[in-house]
This record gives sequence, C-alpha cells and structure tokens, in this order.
Amino acid sequence: MDTRLDELKRKIEDYAFGAGALVVGVASPQEVAKYAPEGHRPSDFFPKVKSIIVVGAGKMLAGAWKCTDPRWVGVIGGRKLKEVKELSFKVAEFIEDKLGYYAVPYASYSLANGVWDPGISIKLCAELAGLGTRSLAGGIILNPKYGFLYYYLVLTSAPLQPDSPLNKPVCPHPTCVKMWEKVQKTPCLRACPECLSGELENGRIKWMQYNRQLCYPRANWSRIGFQKALFEIINENDPEKRKMMIFGSTFTRYVSAIANSLEISAQCFRCVEVCPVGKNHRVKK
Ligand code: SF4
Ligand code: SF4
Repeated sequence: MDTRLDELKRKIEDYAFGAGALVVGVASPQEVAKYAPEGHRPSDFFPKVKSIIVVGAGKMLAGAWKCTDPRWVGVIGGRKLKEVKELSFKVAEFIEDKLGYYAVPYASYSLANGVWDPGISIKLCAELAGLGTRSLAGGIILNPKYGFLYYYLVLTSAPLQPDSPLNKPVCPHPTCVKMWEKVQKTPCLRACPECLSGELENGRIKWMQYNRQLCYPRANWSRIGFQKALFEIINENDPEKRKMMIFGSTFTRYVSAIANSLEISAQCFRCVEVCPVGKNHRVKK
C-alpha cells in the first residue's frame, strides 16, 4: 500500500467530514467502467479522472417525518440535497486549491429535452466505494448506519486508494426478513405496492422491480404539476383566461414550490419512512 496515496486520501476525507459529510468513500473509475456502458463512464465526462470521491450527507431532520403534510419531508429533502451539492463543491475546491489536483463535482440526474439522462451512476459509485447497497425501496442506496442519504461525486485527477464494496447487503434488514417470512411483504413493499415489487429468498433480495414511471409523478408533484399547468396555459387561446391561469393560485403554488426548494427531487418518501435501516436517526424525544 502506497502511504503517500493514503495520506492524500486522509486529507480529503478529513476535510470532507469537517465540511459536513457523514460518509466518504473512494471508487475506482476503472471498476465503474467495468459495469457502466460507454457514454456513462467517468472518463467519458472527465478524461483526467483517476479517482471518484463519493460524499454522502443530507440526513433528514427527524421532525420532518412527524409533520402532518408529508410533502414537508420533500421540501426539507430538497434543501438537504442542496447542502450535499455545496459540500461536493467545497471538496473539489479543497482538492484544487490545497492539493493541486484537478477536481470536478458531479451529480448525474438531469432531464435534457424531456429525456432522462442518467449520466454516471452515483448509485454504482457509492456501492463500489463501500458506502451502501441497493435496496428494495426503488434501488436507493442504503447506508448501514444512516439509511437513506444524498450523494454527490467529485471526480479528480488525484490518485487515491479505492475502498471496497460492503461484504454484506444492507437490505433486507433482519426485521424485514422476519416480516417476509410471516406475510411475504417487507415494510417498503407494503408502503408502495404500486411502484415497488420483489421477493426475498434465504434472507436476500431474489428479484426487485421499481416502477419509476409511476413513482416519478407521485414523488415529484410540483415539477410534473408545473409542466402540466404550463402546457395548459400555452394551449389556452383566450388571453384573459391565460392571464388568470398564470396569476391564479395553482400555478403560483407550483412556481413558488420550485423557486423555494430549488432542486426538489422527491416529495413522497413513504417507502423510506418505513425502512428500519437508520431508523434510530429518525427517533427523537
Ligand atoms: S417515493 Fe413514494 S411513490 Fe416513489 S416508490 Fe417510494 S413510496 Fe412509492
Ligand atoms: S424496508 Fe426493509 S426491505 Fe425495504 S428497503 Fe428497507 S431494509 Fe430493504
């Protein structure tokens, strides 16, 4: 093991934890490229990449789960996602300013011209960096300590020692296995039978399916609602009616939801709320 690489990695990790990261891991771009198709490999985006740093943070405020309006979880989640994005920018700046290597923050979600472009898979990088494993709840990465977190990547030319994937899957939790043995359901499958399906076998996920087409409009009510309302406004020929629609309460609500939350990516979370992994962080006095 090269001690210089370890020292470099330790400096980056120390900085990231000091800046608010809850988990930090390193994935190898070559390992990612073994699974990712052409066009979705780290070097397709950033040819100088030698290491992928995965930073995870954005633990939900426990109080959010206790609000009567479930959308509040999504509003707080949007803010948390923004925090992780800012954290990744800080880590990238630290690497460039203090360590002298190239660095660029990266998040893969993007809707270009109405087409979903997954880019580099953050899930794959987080798994290879040993930060968690995919779950029955829509394939989200569950960290063994915190459960659901938000992740961002920092691609860098710094050569860092990659971490290893976890030996044991985080999902299913032992209590979910017990529940499956009794009723052939897990908490997440029961919470959202429309979007989630799957089976356990010998305490492991046998197969799973996530219906993103159904989840997306349910979990992203403001973005989808905004698009629908905008479409109706554009197609309204009567200028007076059009004006009323633009300044009416419905469209105003969509606009302010998007403006205030900046990056609302999900506003449902019922499948996460019932998950026992990381539950201790959701319970307060
Ligand atoms: S986020 Fe909501 S709609 Fe989507 S899978 Fe989870 S419970 Fe279902
Ligand atoms: S509720 Fe259980 S089965 Fe579902 S994601 Fe969480 S650990 Fe996995």
